[in-house]
Amino acid sequence: MAEPALELAGLDVRYGSVPAVRGVSLRVEEGEIVGLIGPNGAGKSTTLNAIMGAIPVHAGEIRLRGQSIRKRSPESIARRGIALVPEGRRIFGEFTVEENLRLGLASRRGNGGDPLRRAYDLFPMLEEFRRRQAGLLSGGQQQQLAIGRALVAGPEVLLLDEPSLGLAPLAVDGVFEALRGIRERGVTILLVEQRALHAVALADRTHVLVGGELRMTLTPADAANPDKIVAAYLA
Ligand code: ATP
Repeated sequence: MAEPALELAGLDVRYGSVPAVRGVSLRVEEGEIVGLIGPNGAGKSTTLNAIMGAIPVHAGEIRLRGQSIRKRSPESIARRGIALVPEGRRIFGEFTVEENLRLGLASRRGNGGDPLRRAYDLFPMLEEFRRRQAGLLSGGQQQQLAIGRALVAGPEVLLLDEPSLGLAPLAVDGVFEALRGIRERGVTILLVEQRALHAVALADRTHVLVGGELRMTLTPADAANPDKIVAAYLA
């Protein structure tokens, strides 16, 4: 069998002596969407930041296509093909939409074509408003911009940290629709979400993280069974 696009094996992350992620193992096969849900403070953002090399790993392995990236710098990890859409979007409001997209080119891979097209094809709104100040966009549009900025680098694996946070219901639907479009373009996705039902319905598998440990794995069929998800949070 082919190596998974992304694999965590026994991942331990600590802040000082305080464990935040404990023995987390999961695989994301190429072209899959894998969800990671759980209550506040469960360690979801910590897991994504550790994959990106932004915080040190205490023990365990992180592999991209079978190669360890555990000790690599964030720049090296980005160049190898992982991009993060951070929690809170981190858009530069005084810059135009296009300038924000260009910031994503710092870790661009390959030279073919116009990389901004990766964002514009998925989100035509970004092309229409490319000269507009990003701070004038709605919350949903800013989230499209944050996702577009990650895509212009041409990642193989996209990590998203609560992309639907703070958005109106229609904009939430737009984000989940965009994730389907990104999967269709062959990008592998690890999705952290607090909208558990949405995530479970979309992802090929969704892991429940509680207190830094994986408690349960859910499939799309479980989206019809919210009680099971609640029980996983409380277990
Ligand atoms: P949320 O949904 O609230 O973002 P999360 O599941 O992403 O939660 P993390 O932000 O990864 O959780 O936090 C995991 C644990 O690590 C929490 O107990 C949190 O208080 C702690 N923590 C997070 N960042 C730091 C830090 N920089 N220093 C010390 N402890 C931290």
